[in-house]
Amino acid sequence: MAGEPRYRRILLKLSGEALGGSRDYGIDFAVVRDVVRQIKRVHELGVQVLLVIGGGNIFRGRDAAKGGLDRATGDYMGMLGTVINALALQDGLEKLGVAARTMTAIQMNQVAEPYIRRRAVRHLEKGRVVILAGGNGDPYFTTDTTAALRAVELECDVLMKATKVDGIYTADPVRDPSATKFRRLDYMEVLNRGIDVMDNTALTLCMDNGMPIVVFDLLKEGNLERVVLGDEIGTLVATPA
Ligand code: UDP
Repeated sequence: MAGEPRYRRILLKLSGEALGGSRDYGIDFAVVRDVVRQIKRVHELGVQVLLVIGGGNIFRGRDAAKGGLDRATGDYMGMLGTVINALALQDGLEKLGVAARTMTAIQMNQVAEPYIRRRAVRHLEKGRVVILAGGNGDPYFTTDTTAALRAVELECDVLMKATKVDGIYTADPVRDPSATKFRRLDYMEVLNRGIDVMDNTALTLCMDNGMPIVVFDLLKEGNLERVVLGDEIGTLVATPA
């Protein structure tokens, strides 16, 4: 596939669940290999790549709170889970010869660099993939909010939200075969329809700052490159055209 990338700097949000593949818990290394291969391809196009990784395959604070654990403690445990995932991605990228740096919002200097905005930009300019772990560093948030916040503050051109489905549909396409895919939605429509693509905090942050979101299926080989090259797969959530 040839062509000029549509975006100069992208932020890819990958859930922990996606990294878990078919496993109930932990990391599916076949998925890691697939994801890093795709990232390498867009990196080779000269695109600056940031990754925000979730931790749902390891720990979710809200679920643990239902079981009686203190919510904030559970959230910190969840944030630590994202660091485990980030290190797996970093390792996968390095094995392919792609320079990568993990930066964490919770300091753990023996493991990764602290997140410093200007340093993250410098890494990107030097051609390194930057993996952002530890969420925002605050409980009661999700890694979707981290993705929205970092995409805005690091002046990304787009937030790419990887999901299991290849976009936003009128209904769950697995349960309802007559469901159709939206090519484009504006933020308010997503909020008003209660579409569960990102939490509202993340979505409104994108809306307030005009950060476009592309919702797509990353696990289909070549999809990341297709989106980067401007192929209109998935659903674009943006300000009305
Ligand atoms: N988390 C948090 N603050 C953040 C980001 C994440 O407290 O800024 C915690 C929260 O408990 C969350 C867990 O980390 O459930 C894992 O993140 P998330 O649920 O966003 O992962 P994903 O669903 O993307 O796998």
